[in-house]
Amino acid sequence: MNKNVKGLIMQLQHFSVNDGEGIRTTIFMAGCPLRCKWCCNPESWFMETNKYVKEMSIEEIIKEINRYTIFYRYSKGGLTYSGGEPTFQTNFLRNMVNAFYNYGIHQSIETSGYFNWSDVEDIFQKLDFIFVDIKHFDSNKHRELAGVSNERILDNIKSIGKLNKEVVIRIPFIKDVNDSEQNITNTAKFVYDNVPKGKIELLPYHSLGNYKYDELGIGEYKSTFITPSREDLKRAKDIINSYNVETIEFK
Ligand code: SF4
Repeated sequence: MNKNVKGLIMQLQHFSVNDGEGIRTTIFMAGCPLRCKWCCNPESWFMETNKYVKEMSIEEIIKEINRYTIFYRYSKGGLTYSGGEPTFQTNFLRNMVNAFYNYGIHQSIETSGYFNWSDVEDIFQKLDFIFVDIKHFDSNKHRELAGVSNERILDNIKSIGKLNKEVVIRIPFIKDVNDSEQNITNTAKFVYDNVPKGKIELLPYHSLGNYKYDELGIGEYKSTFITPSREDLKRAKDIINSYNVETIEFK
């Protein structure tokens, strides 16, 4: 582990309660190989320092995190790596995970699942909790919506399932995009078959990040999808539960 390794960070968000158990610090890391049409963190697409992205060393991050460890301890919280796609800066992530593993801090990751498993398996072995997305079960639709097909993601989720860790599969839930009975059924069956402790969380679409597109000069990529209703969510949850997969909500 090398504390001098530097990487690009969008934000260290303290007292985060939406990204896992307890009080957490979410480390938003720059870089992402996907281009989801609903992305609310488009600043992660730029691997350069700017208004949203700064360079930090692991030593600097440790110093800042150390001020909050008491909150993690009493709330059973910890750290969550998010982005962007945190594995995009593989070596930076590895060094951070190794450092905080040695400090005994609970570590989660929010990932798109798009990486080479052999490059990151050692990192996942040291994580405690994994959030991974299935944005659409149909590979062509996935490519259309996120810029890449989903085969590698599904294969990686099978490998993650074998680690026997706590796993939540997240579906960014968007009306008329991925809310069909067939898509939800296929996703639930896949999770049941491949992720022994897997639960599913539906994340309803929102457009709160749209202002960033204008600020970044890429306003033409702003999304205009429809937020699902409570009834839409309930219908999808009922389908998931009918395949013996639990649903969960951290929001
Ligand atoms: S994977 Fe996440 S950060 Fe990357 S484009 Fe999709 S929504 Fe944005």
